[in-house]
Amino acid sequence: MNQYDVAIIGSGPGGYVAAIRCAQLGMKTAIIEKYTTLGGTCLNVGCIPSKALLDSSHHYEDAVKHFEEHGIEIPGEIKVNLEQMIARKQGVVDQTTKGIEFLMGKNKIDVYHGIGSFKDATHVIIAKEDGEETIEAKNIIIATGSKPSSLPFIEIDKERVITSTEALKLKEVPKHLIVIGGGVIGLELGQVYKRLGADVTVVEYMDRIIPGMDGALSKELTKVMKKQKVKFNLSHKVKSVERKGDEVIVKADDKKGNEVTITGDYCLVSVGRKPYTDGLNAEAAGVKLDDRGRVEVNEHLQTNVSNIYAIGDVVKGAMLAHKAEEEGTMVAELLAGQKPHIDYNLIPGVVYTWPEVAAVGKTEEQLKEEGVEYKTGQFPMRALGRARASMDIDGFVKILADKNTDEVLGIHMIGARCADLIAEGVTAMEFRASAEDISRMSHAHPTFAEAVKEAALAATDDRALHV
Ligand code: FAD
Repeated sequence: MNQYDVAIIGSGPGGYVAAIRCAQLGMKTAIIEKYTTLGGTCLNVGCIPSKALLDSSHHYEDAVKHFEEHGIEIPGEIKVNLEQMIARKQGVVDQTTKGIEFLMGKNKIDVYHGIGSFKDATHVIIAKEDGEETIEAKNIIIATGSKPSSLPFIEIDKERVITSTEALKLKEVPKHLIVIGGGVIGLELGQVYKRLGADVTVVEYMDRIIPGMDGALSKELTKVMKKQKVKFNLSHKVKSVERKGDEVIVKADDKKGNEVTITGDYCLVSVGRKPYTDGLNAEAAGVKLDDRGRVEVNEHLQTNVSNIYAIGDVVKGAMLAHKAEEEGTMVAELLAGQKPHIDYNLIPGVVYTWPEVAAVGKTEEQLKEEGVEYKTGQFPMRALGRARASMDIDGFVKILADKNTDEVLGIHMIGARCADLIAEGVTAMEFRASAEDISRMSHAHPTFAEAVKEAALAATDDRALHV
């Protein structure tokens, strides 16, 4: 029987990063993945393929809507070749997952393909295609991730009533895509198909989209997406989703209790994701799950069984790839006797629509609720030369700082390239910068990053320069 210092179940961003860090720290490491490719949800059916389609559809939209104004003429009609678009996306996925295979080899990590289940607290049975194998490990990390969740009355047929996984490989552009759920995944994929020519209606139970983020971001994104002709049915409670031939009929109650019927040809159910522990046989090791099906962990990501840890989407907290990665690193370093720490307040959140939406730290709603005295500095993207040069004028950067100490408490932004710009916010907050600190740093001109400096100037004595 093969013996290891650490065995990791699941090869998503949590699992594979934990494996690399364990190996770097000198531990004999195994990783177990039930699918044939490594990389988990993120690389196979999540972050990477969705961004590939967002980028392709963005190019198409630019070509159709903006090239002429830029003085670029393309003779003949510009058309979508969805088959090629999906094939390119798959190429990106294949390249990326092969990269993880390479990294496993480079770090001398043993990879097992098969379903991993606990035999007891130190043994994992791997159900492989060619039979069962049991391995022994001093420590085990559960990194089994999550799966799309649904509503109890919805039957996902994977043809026309679909989850994000199917939406990443459709064979035709929907005529009318109904998106249930105005969260990150629904909005990103909704925007892909809107750009490719579909009508898109978002049905959301709450009174705003991206409900966890700062209210000002929800408002601005709604405004911009409405301009892009996405329809929103907010405060609508979906009651039924029915398939009739090629039609999908969604019935919902609006705020006043009136029934609304929306008919489309595809319905994307994106109401969140649930932790995945099927087949893991956690009971055999005595590992406890919480009332929401997540593996219960303490602040060291340790389960109730001392040599078993859990990370990523399968535990509490934001379901984000970079959060899973930080946790993977943290557990590896804990096992090596180090004292790592994660500041969960500084895990950024990003929506890769265009304009992009990104945030770190506290929202205004949270500061109000906590009774913190704060001040605000906001700067519109349209006031930047760079924004006008590239015709990306929507959005703003908003900085929230402590009213008394000037320490930055939250940075919220919507606009071009915000997914990358937010890294400055994370860095500033990691080093506990004041708004004044940011306002005195030189930002290259002309860039979108100048909006961060200007928002900081606005937060300190209202002294933004370009508004
Ligand atoms: P996962 O990536 O879910 O990996 C878990 C792995 O464990 C899977 O490969 C699974 O097959 C395997 N597994 C499960 N059980 C077993 C078992 N018993 N034996 C063996 N293997 C097992 N996050 C971002 O930060 N940025 C984004 O842009 C982003 N975009 C997304 C877009 C979409 C459409 C979706 C669906 C998600 C997106 N996410 C994004 C979320 C991100 O994918 C997850 O947060 C991340 O993948 C979680 O990583 P993980 O390692 O915890 O689990």
